[in-house]
Amino acid sequence: MNNMTVNELLNGVHCTCGRHHTCSIEKVYIEENAIRHLTDLCADVQRVLLVADENTFAAAGAQTEKALCGKEIRKQIFDGSAVLVPDERAIAAVESVLGDAQTIVAIGSGVMQDLCKYISHVHGVPYIVVATAPSMDGYASDGAAMITGGMKTTFAAGLPRAILADVDVLRNAPLDMIKAGYGDVIGKYSALNDWKLSRLVNDEYFCEYIYDLTMDKVLRTEALADGLLRREAQSVQALMEALVVIGILMSFAGSSRPASGSEHHLSHFFEITGIVKNRPYFPHGIDVAYSTVITAELRELLLTKTFPQTAYREPRAEYEENVRRVYGKVGDGCIALQDKMGRYTRDTAPVYREKETAIRAVLSEMPTAEEIRKRLALVELDMAEFYDLYGQQTIDDAVMYAKDLKDRYTVLWMYYDFLK
Ligand SMILES: [Zn+2]
Ligand SMILES: [Zn+2]
Repeated sequence: MNNMTVNELLNGVHCTCGRHHTCSIEKVYIEENAIRHLTDLCADVQRVLLVADENTFAAAGAQTEKALCGKEIRKQIFDGSAVLVPDERAIAAVESVLGDAQTIVAIGSGVMQDLCKYISHVHGVPYIVVATAPSMDGYASDGAAMITGGMKTTFAAGLPRAILADVDVLRNAPLDMIKAGYGDVIGKYSALNDWKLSRLVNDEYFCEYIYDLTMDKVLRTEALADGLLRREAQSVQALMEALVVIGILMSFAGSSRPASGSEHHLSHFFEITGIVKNRPYFPHGIDVAYSTVITAELRELLLTKTFPQTAYREPRAEYEENVRRVYGKVGDGCIALQDKMGRYTRDTAPVYREKETAIRAVLSEMPTAEEIRKRLALVELDMAEFYDLYGQQTIDDAVMYAKDLKDRYTVLWMYYDFLK
């Protein structure tokens, strides 16, 4: 898929699922010198706020300022040596310089984009993405993953007016960020399988078109591994296109369902408990990649089991104690969310038994854990570093309780329901 077809997708699709899929992004440029398009995009704008950190500003700040020559430019540049956390402090720092800016230009990748997306939404100021790494699929999605009150919460914020991705800037991103983008895409095997599973178990909305196009991007991305390790322009461009298209497909679906399932829940578990307990964690897409091996193992395990007569549930007191143990101060928020969702008081065993054949067929569609490991090895990602960093106890806790962070049904629930 070339740039033109990414932009064609932005025109919307009348779909066989019965919905008209739309996305409000005006333009996507993934090419050399993409940043020059800022000049046209900001023709009617006088006051611009640039938000970056020292590293992303070094990567693309000069080109951005050049394209905005003659405008009144303000800047918020975060310290590049510390990990930026999209929390109350970071929000306040940007708000303190926002003033009457007419457009926010967010120079960076994941966290920077989440932060600017959130502020754009809250203050009603449009924003434009200047991407600096092909590291995640959130550029074209409206979800802003923030950490407020210590909880990771994804706010439905707005979409950017445009996404500008200079391939030369992307290629020179740290290699781990390129691997993370590849990993975020490989994770879709797991997310897509969860979506199909939930369609069966919960009659959830499902779109064949979105499913197929996402899967197509996964298969194309696998073929890029060698080129990505060598930072080849064409491979990096194709990876970025895959990430942006998947973001657009989330807008089409009206949720992150096609792109985020059990593997993302595990990655969020490692991130949140890492922040709460001051423990290290991997960059997002790398956590997702390793977590995809874990969820593949769960599916393989479930295929060996007899379908239960009743869904397993821990005694309430034990459940609360465990959630508080693994999540610390965030635990009560998880318990309240699950009480609201009511999944703990629902027995899904009859649905599992009624649809056993179809469920087994869906679980079998996922590549095996071994096959996922091989795909990760193509970009030199090795599960050994995952086990080393987290250890078995934390991984077991994640498999049991990552579901409690979220309102979404995935194979993690099925795994839990099948415990004895
Ligand atoms: Zn559809
Ligand atoms: Zn992701």
